Amino acid sequence: MKEILVAGGGIGGLSAALALALKGRRVRVLEKAPEFGEIGYGIQMGPNVSRMLDRLGVLEAIESHAFFPDALILADALDNREITRIAVGKFFRQRYGYRYFVVHRRDLHGEILKVCRQRGEIALETSRGVAGFEERGGAVLVRCENGAEYEGAALVGADGLRSVVRQAVIGDGAARAAGHFVYRGVVPMDQIADRSRAEAMTIWGGPDLHLVQYRLRGGTVMNNVATIVSRRFRQGEKDAGAPDELEEAFTRAHPHVRDMLRYVSRERHWVLHDRDPAANWSNGRVTLLGDAAHPTLQYLAQGAQMAIEDAVVLADKLAAAGEDFGPAFQAYQRERMNRSARVVLSSRFFGEVLHVDGGARELRNELLRKREPESHAEFDWLYRGI
Ligand SMILES: Cc1cc2nc3c(=O)[nH]c(=O)nc-3n(C[C@H](O)[C@H](O)[C@H](O)COP(=O)(O)OP(=O)(O)OC[C@H]3O[C@@H](n4cnc5c(N)ncnc54)[C@H](O)[C@@H]3O)c2cc1C
Repeated sequence: MKEILVAGGGIGGLSAALALALKGRRVRVLEKAPEFGEIGYGIQMGPNVSRMLDRLGVLEAIESHAFFPDALILADALDNREITRIAVGKFFRQRYGYRYFVVHRRDLHGEILKVCRQRGEIALETSRGVAGFEERGGAVLVRCENGAEYEGAALVGADGLRSVVRQAVIGDGAARAAGHFVYRGVVPMDQIADRSRAEAMTIWGGPDLHLVQYRLRGGTVMNNVATIVSRRFRQGEKDAGAPDELEEAFTRAHPHVRDMLRYVSRERHWVLHDRDPAANWSNGRVTLLGDAAHPTLQYLAQGAQMAIEDAVVLADKLAAAGEDFGPAFQAYQRERMNRSARVVLSSRFFGEVLHVDGGARELRNELLRKREPESHAEFDWLYRGI
């Protein structure tokens, strides 16, 4: 059996390699960067993905680095009052079988990488940016930017937001820049002035802004993420999302919320992207996975979780179909398409709800305040998983 080639060694690509190896497939991961790695910030993990990480045999190792919040709190950034909370304690665990946790990206990626390195079925190569490919006979011939070539039985494009593989399969151009700009910072807990909500994951939502705070690395550091919906971006102005626009956007926020801006670094910021859900992401022996297939805004905190779910389903479908890659990839995308599309569209909606002002803010707060913290039914579709 020829090996399967995976373009991209992020969370999605490595999860796919591991899931396929566990089914006895040989896999080669071609990563563009000179080293495997992740940026140093936090990531939230729901029970839907814990089930997948458990199947991949890495949950315990990842959880050893995690922090387990007792609730997910939504507060109003203008008055700092709690609007609603999702209790993620005992009842949540009983309902979904797993805990909600937050973890440093490097720890999540690093533990999956460690297991990949231990598996003889997986070859890991860096500085191998995939530049193109063609299907030839019963194989896919992949060409890398440095001229290296590989022949595999199939190709999985897990090469992220700017996927080269996607452009060959779908050809729909660049992802949509949402005009939402993100600043982040991880600081030691002893530098955090107000720790009154330190046991929870808290989101303060406000007009065209929000701030997220939760602990990482066993609770020793605080992850801080500030996001603005850029007015300058909407108006096509220069310097959209620049640090002075961040300060400007937070001038209306409650002093406590505004004060937390000191925890985010101004050195680097990111603009968020997503895409409208595609109706197809496979062609013959080539398919897509993770952000290459369905990039999403961060508002449900599910992008990486969807990538890991993709990986498990992909390996299941291939195991059932043997060498019949075309039908297996169609079965895979059939199972993944609506669920990932729901995440993409719900994330947009949740982003809107977070960022409202005026009467819409009043309505949001009134309706959400009526929620019972333990009424989890609205999340069943997501957290019960696959
Ligand atoms: C602010 C923010 C907060 C987020 N919070 C969460 C959260 O709490 N929970 C969650 O689940 N998700 C979250 N996400 C989403 C999550 O980060 C992504 O969905 C996830 O990392 C996607 O993984 P991936 O492996 O598909 O793509 P990527 O992580 O982008 O990995 C792609 C890999 O492919 C490589 N590559 C690129 N081009 C090529 C090429 N041509 N050839 C070979 N290799 C290539 C890249 O170097 C990279 O290593 C968040 C995103 C943002 C922006």
